[in-house]
Amino acid sequence: MTRRIGIDLGGTKIEAVVVDVDDAGALSIASRRRIPTSADEGYEAIVARLAGLVREAVREAGLDLATAPIGCGMPGNFTRRTALVKNSNTVCLNGRPLRADLERALGRAVAFDNDANCFALAETRLGAARAWQGGLVFGVIMGTGVGGGIVHRGEVWSGAQGIAGEWGHHAVFEGRRACYCGHTGCLERWASGPAVEGDYAERSGQRLPLAEIAARRASDAHAAAAIENLIEAFGRGLANLIDVLDPSAVVLGGGLSNLALLYDEGRARVAKYVFNDELLTPIVPPALGDSAGVLGAALLEPHACLSGVVE
Ligand SMILES: [Zn+2]
Repeated sequence: MTRRIGIDLGGTKIEAVVVDVDDAGALSIASRRRIPTSADEGYEAIVARLAGLVREAVREAGLDLATAPIGCGMPGNFTRRTALVKNSNTVCLNGRPLRADLERALGRAVAFDNDANCFALAETRLGAARAWQGGLVFGVIMGTGVGGGIVHRGEVWSGAQGIAGEWGHHAVFEGRRACYCGHTGCLERWASGPAVEGDYAERSGQRLPLAEIAARRASDAHAAAAIENLIEAFGRGLANLIDVLDPSAVVLGGGLSNLALLYDEGRARVAKYVFNDELLTPIVPPALGDSAGVLGAALLEPHACLSGVVE
């Protein structure tokens, strides 16, 4: 049995788990702790909080900080040439050498990967897509933002530039709605929780949570329209992706993965747009819940790091 540390750096909380991996590859959580990210306190504070949490987790696990396997999932990615963070919706991380700074704070190497890649890795190795781990799995995050990760034969395929699977920022509706990435029409601006809630608020003048908007669409024309936009964006976006990758399976994650309508009406819309006479691709709900990201981080190996300074 080996003991590993997984860290999930989220926009609102940082979670650390100590996991035990037995000889058959099965994984169990020995301990877990969460602290707020407090992104408003700035970048240096996040690095200090991360380092403190890692030290606590290592101590609690009875491991040696110099040798404990430590993986960290984060929003965004590292630019290959400079090893600076890019594309993070926790925007104070962008342009900062997060990996180098955390490694300096800890005095050792840490494996990093994008949080959606960690989600896809965990659901493929341990969760909903285990049956397809010999093939290619596309893991989708649809929550506050929209991301994705590709796992090929049980390993993350992060891409030559580290942007593989970032389907949230391809344009599905031309010229409509500006995105923080600098473009318009991004899938994320139509198929995330804030996007659907914002769409509904613009139409109705009322802010409601996503689940309630979905629940009232039979009786509320504004809700029906906002959900229709979600389904259309999902159908176009995922069909594009299936045309390119033709994955063995797609596993959904994030808050929107709880919407049953994505698995029937959403799936039918994907089938409408996919370049095939039928849609055989399984589109499945997640099995690991909130824990997928942090479990995937614990599974990271140094060679899977996205940083430009890979070991
Ligand atoms: Zn965008």
